[in-house]
Amino acid sequence: MGEVCGRCGRGQVAVVRRYSGERLCRACFLETFERRVYRTITKYDMLREDDRIAVALSGGKDSLSLLKVLAKIERRFPRAELVAVTVDEGIGGYREEALDYARRACEELGIEQVVVSFDELYGLSMDEVVRDGYLDELGLGPCTVCGVMRRRAIEIGAMKANATVIATAHTLDDIVQTYLMNILRGDLNHHLLGVRREGEGVIPRVSPFRLTPQWEVILYAYYNGIPMQEVECPYGHASQRFLIRSFLTEFEERFPGSLYAALMAIEGRLLSSQAVKEGAAGGGRCRFCGSPTFREVCRSCELIAQISGIRAERVRRALGGIEGLLAKARSA
Ligand SMILES: [Zn+2]
Ligand SMILES: [Zn+2]
Repeated sequence: MGEVCGRCGRGQVAVVRRYSGERLCRACFLETFERRVYRTITKYDMLREDDRIAVALSGGKDSLSLLKVLAKIERRFPRAELVAVTVDEGIGGYREEALDYARRACEELGIEQVVVSFDELYGLSMDEVVRDGYLDELGLGPCTVCGVMRRRAIEIGAMKANATVIATAHTLDDIVQTYLMNILRGDLNHHLLGVRREGEGVIPRVSPFRLTPQWEVILYAYYNGIPMQEVECPYGHASQRFLIRSFLTEFEERFPGSLYAALMAIEGRLLSSQAVKEGAAGGGRCRFCGSPTFREVCRSCELIAQISGIRAERVRRALGGIEGLLAKARSA
């Protein structure tokens, strides 16, 4: 006989949470996992009873797990509705598999799905952004550009779906990575990530996994038979996030509980300075999308305008070339 679960005293220990010392059977792990997501939602007041929730569903294990948990939680709130928003970035040989997982999950759970693509929204796939030299012109890495375009695409998809809130599958790891990335770039973190912030014309975004470590989401997905894509994004290795993620994962492995401690430390500081800052700096809103920003136009709108600008300029040049050829042909 193996060791018995410290919670129910019956099942065999399958999962050890080193950061808390809990030794749990599979059933207790799943139950406490879901309970934590529910508590996270309540703690930060993320969802309302009559929300139409757009789950940003990439088809990766994290978002598939989020859809599953939210579908369970949503049953307790008859007036709330779930809809999935999936973005096709146009990354050949990589995205097709996950897009298929996303579609099937929605079918199985009976959830409406809205699909939007970079191609339809921007006239450009991510493959074209990389292949046609946009990154060099912008001086940015693929993940930065993809991230901004994806974020905007999710917003547009959520608007199409008439959603009142967007739920993303960012985990504790993702949130701490972003805080650190901002610090390493010299940006101050202005507000808590993944908690509901209302603003005119902006659909608020929430991250119900913000207190859940990444490895627990993977395990939850595994125990629930959620498919996991083996192929990694072909553009992912170039990113800053990739470096920070490797470092944080190793650090957490050696010193369990560090991620959560970091989150609490950063956010404790943010919360205590927030009232002061919001009063002092005012913090306006982007002229185009209404997102909070300290400038007239937010960084995302600026970047998307730049991409469209580069694209338009190229089309203009190409047309100019064709006109030149036609003129030559006519005069000949
Ligand atoms: Zn148990
Ligand atoms: Zn904007």
